[in-house]
Amino acid sequence: MRADLHLHSTESDGTDTPSALIKICAEAGLEGVALMDHDTLSGIDEARYAADGLGIAFISGTELSVDHQLTDGTSVKIHMLAYGIDPHDGPLQDKLEWLRAGRDERNPKIIKNLRNLNYDITMDDVLKQAGGTAVGRPHIADALIAKGYFSDRNDVFDGLLNDGGAAYVERSRLTAAQAIELTTQSGGATVIAHPLTMGLHGDPFIAVLADLKATGLLGIEAHHPMHDVALRETFTEVADDMGLLATGGSDYHGTGKKGYSVGVGKGDLRVPEGAFEAIQKVLADR
Ligand code: AMP
Ligand code: FE
Ligand code: FE
Ligand code: ZN
Repeated sequence: MRADLHLHSTESDGTDTPSALIKICAEAGLEGVALMDHDTLSGIDEARYAADGLGIAFISGTELSVDHQLTDGTSVKIHMLAYGIDPHDGPLQDKLEWLRAGRDERNPKIIKNLRNLNYDITMDDVLKQAGGTAVGRPHIADALIAKGYFSDRNDVFDGLLNDGGAAYVERSRLTAAQAIELTTQSGGATVIAHPLTMGLHGDPFIAVLADLKATGLLGIEAHHPMHDVALRETFTEVADDMGLLATGGSDYHGTGKKGYSVGVGKGDLRVPEGAFEAIQKVLADR
């Protein structure tokens, strides 16, 4: 099945509405899609309805930013894809509300930092850029672009909004173990998104995977536009060795991430044959 397991809509920081996104996927010839908006499930019903109408298989989900403590006392940030999570009551669903509240506390602090840096920007400017329930740094970037300060989200993140950047503020996060356990308790399954961004190599990387697999991790997103072809192969071999599922997705954000297309990323992405079905099967058994 031609699939894409990592897509964003206007309900978080993508620029296509859930139904427009599904239409783009259908036109690209995709047969299976997963909507993975950050910290929210508010696009799921609309996307599923659109997918049903177009005869495309659909997996619900959300992408979580989590912390993981290493044995040496330092910590790494991981993006965790939680598949099979639907918008109704449940352990993870309840935590998503807390995560969005954490965003709402953090955004005004970032804006205050930006104002101190002499950027003329207000919360209203940011909310104008946001279509959904999970408002964050990308919308703050869009507001600065709308005001003519920058031309691209990337330019705003670079130095200003990136972790440790001049206007950066932390927000509340789950630990990786909490995310995996809450997802499993909610009938879902977890995959580490773009493992390159963990910044770990060799034994420390393997140790984290082993630890999280013991907690219930299903797989790693070996195929992502950020990974070059050699790295996609390396991650696939690691996944095979460890009994983890090697998955893939475009991380499409519409115009929010320039040059990314659904299904194919920057053009050369191939989501592994069978990965979509493998996740569907795990979810059906939970
Ligand atoms: P937040 O969830 O508010 O902390 O913002 C983080 C999100 O911003 C990530 O999940 C990405 O989707 C997006 N992002 C991070 N870095 C960049 C960048 N350099 N260019 C565009 N979007 C980015
Ligand atoms: Fe994003
Ligand atoms: Fe991510
Ligand atoms: Zn993503």
